[in-house]
Amino acid sequence: MKIIDHNELFQKHEYLEQFERKREFEKPCSADEIEKVSEWTKTEGYREKNFARQALTINPAKACQPLGAVLCASGFQNTLPFVQGSQGCVAYFRSHLSRHFKEPVAAVSSSMTEDAAVFGGLNNMMEGLENAYALYKPKMIAVSTTCMAEVIGDDLNAFIKKAKEQGAIPSELPVPFAHTPSFVGSHITGYDNMLKGILSYLTAGVHRRPNSRINIIPGFDTYTGNIREIKRLLNLMNVQHTVLADISDVMDSPNTGEYRMYLGGTPLDEAVDSINAIATVAMQKYSILKTGEFIKEAWGQEFVAMPMPVGISNTDRFLETISKVTGKAIPEEIEDERGRAVDAMVDSHPYVHGKRFALVGDPDLLLALISLLMEMGGMPVHIICTNGDRNFEGEAYALLGKSPFGIEGKVYIGKDMWHLRSLLFTEPVDLLIGNSYAKFLWRDTGTPLVRIGFPIFDRHHLHRYPIIGYQGVINLVNWIVNTVLDEMDRKTINTTSFDVIR
Ligand code: SF4
Repeated sequence: MKIIDHNELFQKHEYLEQFERKREFEKPCSADEIEKVSEWTKTEGYREKNFARQALTINPAKACQPLGAVLCASGFQNTLPFVQGSQGCVAYFRSHLSRHFKEPVAAVSSSMTEDAAVFGGLNNMMEGLENAYALYKPKMIAVSTTCMAEVIGDDLNAFIKKAKEQGAIPSELPVPFAHTPSFVGSHITGYDNMLKGILSYLTAGVHRRPNSRINIIPGFDTYTGNIREIKRLLNLMNVQHTVLADISDVMDSPNTGEYRMYLGGTPLDEAVDSINAIATVAMQKYSILKTGEFIKEAWGQEFVAMPMPVGISNTDRFLETISKVTGKAIPEEIEDERGRAVDAMVDSHPYVHGKRFALVGDPDLLLALISLLMEMGGMPVHIICTNGDRNFEGEAYALLGKSPFGIEGKVYIGKDMWHLRSLLFTEPVDLLIGNSYAKFLWRDTGTPLVRIGFPIFDRHHLHRYPIIGYQGVINLVNWIVNTVLDEMDRKTINTTSFDVIR
C-alpha cells in the first residue's frame, strides 16, 4: 500500500477540484472583495483598529496553565502528572508537548464531563487516582486542574485527603497539587504554581540542615539541551547541584527499544534535600515568581533569580553568581568556551549589525534574546509578549535603554501575533524570532523567521541544542546569521551578488 503524504495528496486534481467547490459553496463574497480586504489588513488604518480590539485574541503566544504544570511535574522522578478536568484539555497538553519534543508524554486526566460539572469532580478524582496508581505505579502523583474544575470550585486538598482516607491511594504516596485555572495567567504561571506545590509538599516539616549543594531552577524551559548544558557547566566548576524539575531525560529519552515511562527527572530524595542547599539559583524570573517567594520565606536560604544565561553578558553574570555563591572558580575550559563564542559573534557580526528584529515569546526568553541581539548590534524593534505584565514591560524598556541598538524597541504586553502582523506590514523589519505559529507571519509578510521558543512543531531537534551558556551563543548566532544569509541568497539569486562566500 502506498500512503501519500498530504502535501502531495492534496495537490491531486480531484482534491483541488473539491477545494474549489468548497470555496464556491462557502463563498462569502467575490475574490476581488477578499483581495481588497486582505490588502486593507496591511494598512495603517487597519493597524489602528486591530490595536483597539479588546474582546478577541488571535494567535496568542501563550498556552494553558496546566500545560506548564504538566511539564513541571514531568521533571520529577517517577512522577505522574494528573489533571483534574476534562480529557480534551489534557489531550491538548500532551499533544502539544509531544509535538515539540517528539517524545511520548505521560499525563492522565480525571475525565470530567457534564455530571461532574453539576455534582463536582470528587468521584472523578477518587476513581482517577485509584486507577492511575494501580496502572502506572508512580512514586508521586502531581495534580493540577483545568478551567472546568476551577469554575466549579473543586477543592483539591480535601479531595486528595479523602482519596487517601478511603484507601484509593496509599496514605504515604506524595500527592502535591496546584490550582491552575487557565482563564488567568499562562503556561508559565502553571509551571510556577506546580513547582511551588511540589516543593512545598516535599519539604513540609523537613528541618533544614545546610549542606554545600546548590539548587538550579531552569523555569519553563523547553530546551532539553539547556538543562544538559547547565549540568555540564556546573560539573566543570565542580559544583554539587540539584536541578529542580529536570525534564532533560524525560523529554529527550534514548531509543533503546524499550519504553520506560519514568525516565530521569529530579530524584525525589534530592528534591526533599533541596531545602538544605546553600542557595537556589533560578535561570528565569517570570516563570518562578511564587516559587521564589516560597523558597525565600520557607527555606531560609539564599535565592537568586537571574536573567536566562543567553548571550555573553548574561552568561558571564550567571557563572559569576554561581562562583560567588559556591566559592568555586570558573575553570579555564569555560573561559576558552567564552572566547570561542565571542569569536563566533565577531565572525557573524557584519550580517547582524543594524538588522531590525521582531520578537514574540515568553517574558524571560524575550529579555534574554533582546540582550543577545543588542550584543551583536541587532536592533529589537517589535517585542510582543502575550503573557507579559507591567513589570516585564518596565524591565524590557530598561534593558533596551542600556544600548543604542535598543532605541527603536517597543514592547507590547498582552498583544498577540495578529497585532504583530499589523506591525510587520506597517513597520517592516529584517527578521522575525518566534515559535512555529509565527510561520503564518512569515507566509503573510515574507519576514524571514528564526524559530526560537515554544512550541516548535515544524522543525526537528532544535530543543536538543542549548541556547544558554557560551555554547548556546554559538547555536543562536548560527541560526540567526544563517537565516540572514539564506535570505540574502534568495534575494540575489539571479544577480552577480549571488556569492559563494558570505
Ligand atoms: S483554556 Fe481551560 S478549558 Fe481550554 S484547554 Fe485550557 S484548560 Fe482546557
